[in-house]
Amino acid sequence: MNFKIHRGTKEIGGSCVEIWSKSTRVVVDFGMPLVNPDKTQFDSRTIKNFSVKELISKGVLPDIKGLYEKLENTALILSHAHQDHFGLIKYVDENCKIYLGKATQELIKIANIFTNQDWKISNNQHFESGKPFVFGDIEITPYLMDHSAFDAYAFLIKADGKSLFYSGAFRVHGRKTKAFDWFSYNIEKNVDYLLLEGTTIGRVNKSFPTESEIETEFVNTFKTSKGINLIYTSGQNIDRLVSIYRACKRTEKTLAIDFYIANVLKELSEFGAIPYPSKNFPEIKVFFPYRLSRMISNKGNERLLYRFKDYKITKEQIGEQFDKTVMIVRPSMLKDLEYIKGLENGIFIYSMWDGYKKEKTTKRFIDFLVGKGMTEKRIHTSGHADRDALKRMVEVLKPKNLVPIHTFEGDEYENIFTGTKVLRINDNEVVINN
Ligand SMILES: [Zn+2]
Repeated sequence: MNFKIHRGTKEIGGSCVEIWSKSTRVVVDFGMPLVNPDKTQFDSRTIKNFSVKELISKGVLPDIKGLYEKLENTALILSHAHQDHFGLIKYVDENCKIYLGKATQELIKIANIFTNQDWKISNNQHFESGKPFVFGDIEITPYLMDHSAFDAYAFLIKADGKSLFYSGAFRVHGRKTKAFDWFSYNIEKNVDYLLLEGTTIGRVNKSFPTESEIETEFVNTFKTSKGINLIYTSGQNIDRLVSIYRACKRTEKTLAIDFYIANVLKELSEFGAIPYPSKNFPEIKVFFPYRLSRMISNKGNERLLYRFKDYKITKEQIGEQFDKTVMIVRPSMLKDLEYIKGLENGIFIYSMWDGYKKEKTTKRFIDFLVGKGMTEKRIHTSGHADRDALKRMVEVLKPKNLVPIHTFEGDEYENIFTGTKVLRINDNEVVINN
């Protein structure tokens, strides 16, 4: 078994690992970079007009045989529906087999429509947690993980009598901690290589609040607020949306979500106990932001608009009951919010990674709301493992080699995971192990 990390040994984002035997090749994740080589923010708009060949020579696309042309012995495996793990798939040849979770494909499909992308997954194959599958002479077992993306997986990969475990992105303080317990109990020990994410290494070393603690913080905030509660969070962070829904129920508030989030919840409700606009969840109402409604309607996707018409709430209705409403918002809704009553004395809750605040539109959005008299508050916990959780994974797997990935702080691994051999490699370096 040989492997190569194309991107991720010294950065977060753009994850891509190639693993191959004599006859077969699998590529795990195919992410959009988050940073340029000089660590400035990567702007995906700058690569729009380039060909695959040009993007390979620029170092944006990894140079991997079989991904961009039809080759039967190459497959792509996706861990979860975050763009830094799948965002380059539009360049993959349509005949290339893509293995992913069923809900992950659903999330990519919805995001593709609502954010106007051209992601396509034609030759797909769905896997299930704990069930091994083979591609050529490589065996892959997916393990469901607790992460801010719904349906996120780690993978145990075996070939030529060797084993490699790819942690993907995970945590142990969300709403799926049982997934980690199940994994800990069932996984075999002493893998040859553990490719371990280290997103949060470099941040303050303390344990992160759990999603249930976050829920309580929402409850306490809603209780004290005299105006409307607006929350900016990701429409795909299901754990967070569940926390907010539960907090609304506990404080008897109406939860107003837009029809994008309504569609996400409805499609995912098939995969778990997820609340969505329906008779069973009368607290949830749906609003229709002007710009988004027009875009979806122009593209002929009216079904996505009208399927929630029975649960509609208008801007006027929200204004009439502003002190009983919690509304999920994002910067593109600035115009819709201009006329909503109850912003003054209300609370604006920022519930995602602080890094996004640097974006111009986000900054302008927050300035607008604060200018209207809203109080800004942050309620958030990371989608990634804290140091204790990372150590737990190392203890569970007892790897012969620990390889830093998805981190800016790979040099720290030696100091943190003492007693485990750390193999520090560079992007594009081949590790041969036959
Ligand atoms: Zn992720």
